[in-house]
Amino acid sequence: MKDSLKHLFDFIENGVSPFHAVAWARKVLEEAGFEELRLKDNWKIEKGGRYFAVPFGTTLYAFTVGAGQGVMGGVRMAGAHTDTPVLKLKPHPEILRHGYLQLNTEVYGGPILNTWFDRPLSLAGRVAVRGRDGVEARLADLKRPCLYLPNLAVHMNRGINENGKPIQNQKELLPILAMTDLKEPGDAFVEMLAGEIGADPRDILDWDLCVYNPEKPKTVGWRDEFVASPRLDDLDSCAALIHGLISGGGRDGLNMVCLFDNEEVGSRSKQGADSEMPRLVLSKIFRAFGMDRTEALSHAADGLMISVDVAHAWHPNYPEVQDITNYPVLGGGFVFKSAANQSYAWDALALAEAEEICISNHIPFQRFAKHSDTKGGGTIGSIISSHLPMRTVDMGIGLLAMHSACEMQSAEDQESLESFARVFFD
Ligand SMILES: [Zn+2]
Repeated sequence: MKDSLKHLFDFIENGVSPFHAVAWARKVLEEAGFEELRLKDNWKIEKGGRYFAVPFGTTLYAFTVGAGQGVMGGVRMAGAHTDTPVLKLKPHPEILRHGYLQLNTEVYGGPILNTWFDRPLSLAGRVAVRGRDGVEARLADLKRPCLYLPNLAVHMNRGINENGKPIQNQKELLPILAMTDLKEPGDAFVEMLAGEIGADPRDILDWDLCVYNPEKPKTVGWRDEFVASPRLDDLDSCAALIHGLISGGGRDGLNMVCLFDNEEVGSRSKQGADSEMPRLVLSKIFRAFGMDRTEALSHAADGLMISVDVAHAWHPNYPEVQDITNYPVLGGGFVFKSAANQSYAWDALALAEAEEICISNHIPFQRFAKHSDTKGGGTIGSIISSHLPMRTVDMGIGLLAMHSACEMQSAEDQESLESFARVFFD
């Protein structure tokens, strides 16, 4: 198995929630000699140094500084996102009906809901626990397939195979956890959770937990040319960027990877791409070299940012939904995206610069443009570049079944994206 695929599989198996994806990235960076900085400190940064910061637990900024001119040697940034469309657990989640213990959930982002039925599910995220010195954060991953969301049998639901049947979230998205003797909803779930994380149930104050697909990523296809896996959107980009920065990262100037949370719900949060955080981090780095915020932003304007998120690959059963001349296929290389309405960030000169990197390093790439009669998607690129005046290019790996509980991409495209990230930073 190629290293790029191993990096991807490790990220997906360990990154079962945004908290866990960031924890995995932190471990990988620490093993590669990156030093952690805390947001509240004044940063001391050396030329030739490798650093990272983890604001709020679900976002991560990792960077290297060139040994020559330091940050003055040019700014290269890359962004991706750590969150995926899932079901999130509500407060007071217990529902008791004739001995069935179910959990109340709400939808996060835009999952293909019918893919969450009839498959083993688990639960992971962060739990807030009362500690000796105040509230403590504990990561929780039940790992076991302890939840199940069964479909209603076809005999009682004759319309199930007819397209367009809406799912009633509040009625149907209530996974079954256990059978129980309890007569009233109470603390059964909290006690189970406390047992899993080794805490006293009375000390569990709150949580941010998501229902996730615990299935392991695997290669599929006649020649194992595809990857079938949960969370490809957007952990394939996170894996390629983090490992590209570790193995590249030697270029003079500032080389930075930003992993954001909350892309799937519009990026507007303290840890999203639509926040002050990228500018704050950039300012703190430049301040360590005696420059103020205005100098930092002015200098970044000369740099290049890549916004890396998955793209829509051409689906052989639905050719009519794609553009007629720009339609990436699986295995043809990662994809540069552009849209006249700037829902994807781009300008011709910035794109040309990124394409030149591919051409001179023999890295395959494709172009995506949306079908002219559809609204199309958007991602973090346009959002960040509206805060950071910086040339930005949207790109990413072509996917099928995007936002399914199990998505599909090409193994070779992972290699092309990680190669690009390495060269971009080196
Ligand atoms: Zn995405």
